[in-house]
Amino acid sequence: MKVFGSSGTRGVANEELTPQFVLKVAEAAGTVWRADRVAVARDTRATGQMLADAAASGLASVGANVDRLGVIPTPGAQAYAERESVPVVMITASHNPPEYNGVKLVGADGIELAVADLERIEQKFLAEKFEKVRWSETGTSREIESARREYVDSLLDSANREKIADTDLTVALDPGHGAGSLTSPEFFRKLGCRVVTTNSQPDGHFPGRNPEPVPENLEDLGALVTAADADVGIAHDGDADRAIFYDENGEYIEGDATLAALAAAELDPGDSVVSAVNVSQRLVDVADDREAYLELTPIGSTNIITRIEDLQKKDRHVPVAGEGNGGIFFPDYRLSRDGAFTAARFLELLADQPASEVVAPYDGYHNVRINIEYSGDAEREALLEAAEEAADETDADLTTLDGYRFDYGDAWVLTRPSGTEPMVRIYAEARGESRAIELAEEMEERLRAAKAEA
Ligand code: MG
Repeated sequence: MKVFGSSGTRGVANEELTPQFVLKVAEAAGTVWRADRVAVARDTRATGQMLADAAASGLASVGANVDRLGVIPTPGAQAYAERESVPVVMITASHNPPEYNGVKLVGADGIELAVADLERIEQKFLAEKFEKVRWSETGTSREIESARREYVDSLLDSANREKIADTDLTVALDPGHGAGSLTSPEFFRKLGCRVVTTNSQPDGHFPGRNPEPVPENLEDLGALVTAADADVGIAHDGDADRAIFYDENGEYIEGDATLAALAAAELDPGDSVVSAVNVSQRLVDVADDREAYLELTPIGSTNIITRIEDLQKKDRHVPVAGEGNGGIFFPDYRLSRDGAFTAARFLELLADQPASEVVAPYDGYHNVRINIEYSGDAEREALLEAAEEAADETDADLTTLDGYRFDYGDAWVLTRPSGTEPMVRIYAEARGESRAIELAEEMEERLRAAKAEA
């Protein structure tokens, strides 16, 4: 497997993503970082402790002392990194199914490593040139019990507590047995909300639902919103850097609609908003309406972060960025995606109107996503060649920043290989549902035909 994809490195634990692999990643990262101290953290996955132990061993072997944060959301580990100026090896597979795990690397500034830094570590990994120290200089380990509490405190310091408390909200929360189970219930209670929960015991077997916060995994949450007469439902992924919402009627809110609503509240004329090449027409429309610049990047949080940093260096203000999967940045707060903080910003919008009305302007768009799995390079090649052939023939506007995006004015379709799983994804969006389905299925048909012949 490639060491680092668009969102770190992930695989089925103990098959692709073995302790040996993580040990080597940690040795390579520790060698490049040359830090006295490195933190190791994890989400709730059943294989998390095993892999965190491997990471700690690798780091100690190249001379780093290890701060073990235990189970904590990725943004909590990033807050620790920033506060203590230590890099972090985060063991998480984010939203992937329970059998997966992964490694995400965070710099001593609390920001996910940029592609160039990952490449340096990847070179060390492949060359196996680790700077192992003498026995007397190997690192030691200590448990940090306070990291979760300090993360919740920092969230409370950054949120608009008074406004949210005054709105007197009932929040239905589904942390999906992930790392947010240990921080989000307390956070929303301390914000002055009444909190009801489902799937909120940390459990790496994810008995109640899979970690990905998509509607088919969130039926319990929709029902809980209705049963508890809640004002809003909030769901996280496994490492709680994402937040997905339900309205007061128990209806799922598209992540793109949430991003558009939050962006509409944040953007002033001349600001920039950064999103990926699968950006929704909703955000295009909001940026136009606010006279803000929309900047597109290849898909993957590291690409978005790099672009935000580039813009900030040019003194451009980027108050909000992110993707329609619930992973949203508020760079004035911190350059990380944070599910709890994102939810707090959404709760602020409920002061004046119910959730359904907050997102109503972004209704009426339809998204379609089709995954085509492949096994082996030949099938993968055939799928991508079929997409390229379609690109050669189309009269739509073409963007090839990452995959093939066809813009038709009223609709668009994007075809690209997943960075983390063996599949090619087709995305389409239009105002009318049938139009989106038609475009997606047209592409699917071409690709499936090519795959059958491979
Ligand atoms: Mg995540």
